[in-house]
Amino acid sequence: MDLTGKVALITGGTSGIGQATVYRISRTSAKVVFVGRDEENGRLIEAELEDEGRDAFFLRADLSVPDEAREVVAETIHVFGRLDYAFNNAGISGSNRPLAEQSEANFDEVFQINVKSLFIMMQHEIHQMLVQGRGGSIVNMASVGSMLATPGASIYVASKHAVIGLTKSAAIEYGPQGIRVNAVSPGSIRTEMLREVFGGDDALNRLEAIHPIRRIGIPDDVANAVAWLFSDQSSYYTGQSLVLDGGLTAQRPMAQSRQSDAPDRQGSGAQSSDSLMLSRPTS
Ligand code: NAD
Repeated sequence: MDLTGKVALITGGTSGIGQATVYRISRTSAKVVFVGRDEENGRLIEAELEDEGRDAFFLRADLSVPDEAREVVAETIHVFGRLDYAFNNAGISGSNRPLAEQSEANFDEVFQINVKSLFIMMQHEIHQMLVQGRGGSIVNMASVGSMLATPGASIYVASKHAVIGLTKSAAIEYGPQGIRVNAVSPGSIRTEMLREVFGGDDALNRLEAIHPIRRIGIPDDVANAVAWLFSDQSSYYTGQSLVLDGGLTAQRPMAQSRQSDAPDRQGSGAQSSDSLMLSRPTS
């Protein structure tokens, strides 16, 4: 894929899915501004891509601070002069417990980054794309939690449902101006976030058996989808959520209880926000 001459903005770009997408998009020859809080890793990624002859620029920002989020698009224009693509990926899982035991502080923290900062980013990205008058492609990070609930993850699940609402609304409002807006909805992707939720790689390995494709995802699985959504190859695709879950949500939950190799996650001690078929079989 060749995206020469295009400029992409990627949030949460210093780790996990965002970092893989920074590499993937840079290697299409697009110019990339990537945002994160980890200055050290941001500079390392920037230097590595510069050594490869790529145009990548790290921008340090805490997107939970609205004033910092509001500056990101202006900085992108300052550095590379235009904006064609955006991947609003930064997010947190928050803490997991049953809804009645959740705190308002956790609600505010999760919604601040997963929803409000994404909303602010979208506003500024769309304004810029309208000024340029040549359309664009925006991809928002949702989750399989945007379709289905997981016990203990009500706030995260609600935040990812909200991402779909913003995605569909913007897609219908700005489709006439050539701005496409989609979401990606990954299931279980091997990143630090999922390791923390499950308590390490062994627990993630045990998840593989419940995925029809018999593995959990890697960040590149999502990065490749974002590259397609940015490109003109997806030019008729807008207002949608692209599910990337190895078939997890295609199967009936009950079918899982009959598989002898299904892990019993009662022992894992962790509740996942993103892996949906993990509840202990009821029969
Ligand atoms: P990750 O923790 O590596 O990535 C999250 C990124 O968001 C980090 O780089 C982090 O620094 C950034 N971020 C968080 N708060 C921020 C803030 N206030 N300001 C700036 N940056 C901030 O984990 P990941 O799995 O790569 O997650 C990326 C996105 O993918 C998240 O939105 C997550 O909800 C979503 N997701 C992940 C999975 C999975 O299985 N890993 C599945 C579905 C959706």
